[in-house]
Amino acid sequence: TGLAPLLEITGLSAGYGAANVLHDIDLSVQPGEAVVVLGANGAGKTTLLRAISGLIPHNGSIRVDATDVGRIRPDVMLRMGIAHVPQGRGTLTDMTIQDNLKVGAVSRKDARAVAQDIDQWYSVFPALGKRRRQIAGTLSGGEQQMLALARAMMARPRLLLCDEVSLGLAPLIVQGIFEVLTEVNATSGTALLLVEQNAELALAVASRVYLLEVGSVAAHGPSAEFRNNDAIRRAYLGY
Ligand code: ATP
Repeated sequence: TGLAPLLEITGLSAGYGAANVLHDIDLSVQPGEAVVVLGANGAGKTTLLRAISGLIPHNGSIRVDATDVGRIRPDVMLRMGIAHVPQGRGTLTDMTIQDNLKVGAVSRKDARAVAQDIDQWYSVFPALGKRRRQIAGTLSGGEQQMLALARAMMARPRLLLCDEVSLGLAPLIVQGIFEVLTEVNATSGTALLLVEQNAELALAVASRVYLLEVGSVAAHGPSAEFRNNDAIRRAYLGY
């Protein structure tokens, strides 16, 4: 496409203190695109999302709409349209469901549309709608993951970074969450950058894949190519 990338990463390295985890990563996401990052445990997938959203420092360049954002605060990144659903849910555990959703929309001024979006998310996830006054920390794992996703979407992001949304959840719940992600991508045009262990589901949503191995991009390309590659199927899909 001729569009400028929404997100363009070149020569990125990042890590913790002196320990570099990511080396020379190049990765881009076009507006509205759904991209998945696959890789074994410890490959650096979580670290990559943390660097993008400004939770840890990086070297190299991260461009949003062709502008280098440097080291950016997570709240500024959110205002630029990039929301992060961190691993292990991203809810404010001592607040109610309703307040979590309101906090997700703090940067918005359109109070009426915010209220409509909250109702909309309650209809997407009826389990949340039934418990609006319940404290988030007392929800089940699946409900917390639904809330984390809805909360991030309340900012109406242009790009959603999702870290292992399927982790530790029952298959039926995971399938529901992936259906919502597919819907969000198709109907609201929100771009997705998913980090996933569940390659099967992720490949069904995403049109492009990056394969991370010990902190470097080992391969990238269209999802269909990855599904038809025997070595990758065996390593990541298990058949
Ligand atoms: P997983 O799916 O298991 O979360 P991952 O691909 O997301 O794996 P990361 O969590 O990014 O991998 O971890 C990459 C490397 O960075 C690992 O070797 C890990 O031990 C190290 N690491 C992660 N978090 C920290 C931290 N806070 N301090 C130091 N090292 C860390």
